[in-house]
Amino acid sequence: MRIFDPHIHMTSRTTDDYERMASAGVRAVVEPAFWLGQPRTSVGSFTDYFDSLVGWEPFRAGQFGVRHHATVALNPKEANDPRCRPVLDVLPRYLEKDGVVAVGEIGYDSMTPEEDEVFAVQLALAVAHDLPALVHTPHRDKARGVERSLAVVTECGIAPGRVVLDHLNEVTVTLVRDSGCWMGFSIYPDTKMSPPRMVELLREHGTERMLVNSAADWGRSDPLLTRATGEAMLLAGFTDDDVDRVLWRNPVEFYGQSGRLDLTELDLAAVDPETGSSILRGGT
Ligand SMILES: [Zn+2]
Repeated sequence: MRIFDPHIHMTSRTTDDYERMASAGVRAVVEPAFWLGQPRTSVGSFTDYFDSLVGWEPFRAGQFGVRHHATVALNPKEANDPRCRPVLDVLPRYLEKDGVVAVGEIGYDSMTPEEDEVFAVQLALAVAHDLPALVHTPHRDKARGVERSLAVVTECGIAPGRVVLDHLNEVTVTLVRDSGCWMGFSIYPDTKMSPPRMVELLREHGTERMLVNSAADWGRSDPLLTRATGEAMLLAGFTDDDVDRVLWRNPVEFYGQSGRLDLTELDLAAVDPETGSSILRGGT
């Protein structure tokens, strides 16, 4: 099983995770810029973080045979802090970098006027830089958040096929399917979407425009839940080809729209965790 995790925050994970992911078949990941838990107070904290997402983290992933790309944005939560607003001015520089395959995570957290403004500005940046967009949907009041997000997407004129709305569930999937946008699902250990629920959604809605991710970060999460979902699909009667479509070809197709996805020679990369641990010994 080859796996592309289209939404995972590796900055928050350890080398043990990379080893386990590589053993489970994860060959590629996209790491969206997000909220780090501790509020940032200046633009410099963001540029150091963005530099890490396009420099250090791809290098670290490479030690384990995992190809790493990133998405860059001012996240919805910190869009509310005026000290973070200058991040919008440095984004164009990052959106031109080779390893950046979308604008994200953008969207709504609490649906404030500040979030409205920052969301629209960043969708316009996606259009200007010819990049897809990764839209986070709020954990509270999800249906209203998705409706409002879709309205902003329509208004800004970006092609729906270049947008993914993430963290969907049974309540919000149909709205997004009918919009023509891609549907992202984050599989969590004990809340929200689980592998069995995901299998049911795939039965009901098919595999087209469906993306499955672990969204693993600094909270309770599990980077192997993409693999668990693939196994649950097989047990439920889906074919190997269905699993490959959802866990590999769909994310390749979505992020491939950036023209920057580089998966060359990936199958030749060492995925044996035994050979990928030099970074553990060499870190200073
Ligand atoms: Zn995320």
